[in-house]
Parts: sequence; structure tokens; C-alpha cells
Amino acid sequence: MATHEAERHQGLGTLPVWDDGDAERLPPLRGEASAEVCVIGLGGSGLAALARLADAGVDAIGLDAGQVGAGAAGRNGGFLLAGVAEFHHDAVQRFGHERALNLYRLTLAEMERWYAEDVPGARCTGTLRIAADAEELRDCEQQFAAMREDDLPVERYDGPEGQGLLFPRDGAFHPMQRWRDLATTLQARGVRLYGDTFARAIVDTRVQCAEAYVHAKKILIAVDGGLEVLLPELAPRVRSARLQMLATAPTQECRLSRPVYFRDGYDYWQQDEAGRIVLGGGRDIGGDDEWGAAAEPTAIVQKHLENTLRERLGVSAPITHRWAARVAFTDDGLPIFGELRPDVFVTGAYNGTGNIFGALCGRSIANLALGATDPLAKCLRR
Ligand SMILES: Cc1cc2nc3c(=O)[nH]c(=O)nc-3n(C[C@H](O)[C@H](O)[C@H](O)COP(=O)(O)OP(=O)(O)OC[C@H]3O[C@@H](n4cnc5c(N)ncnc54)[C@H](O)[C@@H]3O)c2cc1C
Repeated sequence: MATHEAERHQGLGTLPVWDDGDAERLPPLRGEASAEVCVIGLGGSGLAALARLADAGVDAIGLDAGQVGAGAAGRNGGFLLAGVAEFHHDAVQRFGHERALNLYRLTLAEMERWYAEDVPGARCTGTLRIAADAEELRDCEQQFAAMREDDLPVERYDGPEGQGLLFPRDGAFHPMQRWRDLATTLQARGVRLYGDTFARAIVDTRVQCAEAYVHAKKILIAVDGGLEVLLPELAPRVRSARLQMLATAPTQECRLSRPVYFRDGYDYWQQDEAGRIVLGGGRDIGGDDEWGAAAEPTAIVQKHLENTLRERLGVSAPITHRWAARVAFTDDGLPIFGELRPDVFVTGAYNGTGNIFGALCGRSIANLALGATDPLAKCLRR
């Protein structure tokens, strides 16, 4: 804790390691604007929706209260994961076999699409689930059996990181680079994007911002953390929690070739291409304080992350970044997805795993708004 406080005093900011802070800023929207579709949220989900709309030749505006990747999309662990937040055998139990399997297959296909398209910074490294104890190892065995039965890519793993499972088609990426590249491509295609434009309210299909209005035929909301703030009617079903991370200077003390999930996914880390350790987790350590909290690092969780870094990974490299962001959770474990009000479409609340799943949902919600059929929409129907 002392170290954390000292670093804060030395001016350690709360920018994620993925953000070098020198990106060109999107202009704010002022006055009145109109479009066929207005997309709120320029994280991975909103940008994927805008890309689908651009493909369909739809005139769309995208806006964000901050900038591209201002929320979890630009501040996460950088894991590319197939499936939903629940491990596959848990998803089968909770959502039913057919639905869980379809969700896994669709996310896997989305990830393969990224690799095939050579998304800059995306690497098919595989990821590891490492068991913290014998009980978790038994759970890994159940996951292994369920995945093998469904012919999903998984192997048993026993290596320097510990024992558990290897998911050979998962990977890692540089989140902020991905979303900024996508935003630049969209702008080059004529899509209008605005930053620092906070949507205060949605009245019918009009978006009221602090200093602007957008009139649209359809509104598409692609927000993860804080979704229940923008849409208070979701509050009973959706709750947002803070997740925290830290990163070190490049180090040669270890060479981690794959991202690792540990302690049922409560802790996670990877070493990026520059050699920096990027480590997050400890939401359970923060307890109830993490729910509904501001996206700021706290001493108790940061201390836990620091201990994991120093003791479990044996890394002594200096910590250069500490940050937090919010994600939303639902009571039934499925995201919010669909037409919430007439011509107002919503996707969000990925329960902590949303890089691939969120992008997939973004494209699918755009399909729904376009009136096109979409295989994911059926899977997410409640
Ligand atoms: C620390 C951390 C680690 C994570 N690690 C991983 C991981 O390794 N792998 C993985 O798959 N998932 C991970 N996740 C989850 C994943 O990051 C998210 O599920 C995903 O990025 C959500 O993207 P999104 O575009 O749906 O939403 P967001 O990133 O929340 O984007 C929504 C955007 O909407 C904007 N916005 C919100 N309200 C308004 C408003 N009223 N008006 C205008 N704009 C608004 C926000 O500024 C934001 O930019 C992690 C999350 C966190 C916080």
C-alpha cells in the first residue's frame, strides 16, 4: 500500500498501459445533427456496430462521452477469449447445452475472423487456465471433459505456470490500437465520430447531449460498464463493478508466452510484445466496494495485484501503470441484447469477458437494427 501511495505521489497516472496519451482526439458534437442511426459508445461493441452499418451503406453517427476506447474496451487485460464469461461446463449448466455451444462456436468464429483479417496486434498465442488448488484442478477436468465432448479446442496443461488447461485458439491483442485503428478506418469511410459528447437522455429516438441533439431513426446503445446509468430501467437486472489492473516496465525476468487466468479467473496476467507484465484481478479482494464504484484504482486491490506480481510471478520490475475500468454484470449471466424500446437497440453487460463477445454482439445488434437475421440474436433471446 505504501508503494502504491508513493507512486501516486510521484505522478503515476491512471492511464492504461495501452494508451500512450498522444492519440488525436475526436471533436465534440455541438448543436443539432441527424442520421439514420446514432450509435452511443465507441468501445469495441459500438465500433463493430458502426462497421456493420457502414457495410450496409447506412448513414450513422457514433458518439462517446470520452474518446475511443475510453471505457473497458481500451482499459482491459487484452485477452482474446472464446466463449462467454462462464467456463464452458458452467455455461452449459446455466444456459443449456445448445445455447452454450452455439455461443462458444460463434465467439470462436469471430476470433478466427480477426486472425484471418490480420488485425494488427492480435496474436493467436493460446491462453491458460491455471488452477490455484486441487479443487480448481478438478473443475478444470470437468471443463476439459465438457469441451472435448463438444469438440472445442482445449488441452490439458502442465508447465512452468502450473497445472490446468490450454485453449490453443485464444490469444492476445493490444486493445487500444485495435479500437483506434477501427475508428480511423470508419472515419475514412465517412462515418461521423464524436468524442467528449455525453448522452444525457434518450427521448423516443432523439439523443440529448450536454450541448447537442441527435435526431435519428434508430438508436443503438453499445455500453458495458454503467449501462444501468444510461438506461435506469435496466437497474434491477444490471450492476456495474470496477476491475483493476497494473503494468510494469519491460522486463526479461520472465518470458510468458501466453496470457494466464488464475484462481477461477479472478486474477489474470500476460506479458505483451514489449515485455511488459500486464496484470489484473482481485475483484473479490475489493469485495462490495467494487460494485457501483468509480473507475479508480484502490490501495487494497492494487496491493493484491502487486503481491501476485512479486510473489507468484517473481517479477521485481517497476510498476509504471495502475488503472481501473467498469464492466456490467447481469443477474442471469447473459448480456443485455435487443430492442429495449421501439427503435432503441441495446447491447452490453458482458459479465467481464467482452473483447470478442462484445464485438460480436455489436455487429449482431446492428444486424437486428437493420432487420437482418443473425444467429447470435437467437442465442441471446431470454
Ligand atoms: C480491467 C478489465 C480487464 C478486462 N479484461 C478482459 C479481457 O482480457 N478479455 C475480455 O474479453 N474482456 C475483458 N474485459 C471486459 C471487456 O473489456 C469489456 O467487456 C468490453 O471491452 C466492453 O466493450 P464495450 O465496447 O461493449 O463497452 P465499453 O468499453 O464500456 O464502451 C462503452 C463506451 O460508451 C461510452 N459511454 C458510456 N456511457 C455513455 C453516455 N451516457 N454517453 C456517451 N457515451 C457513453 C464510454 O465512454 C465507453 O467508451 C475486461 C474489463 C476490464 C475493466
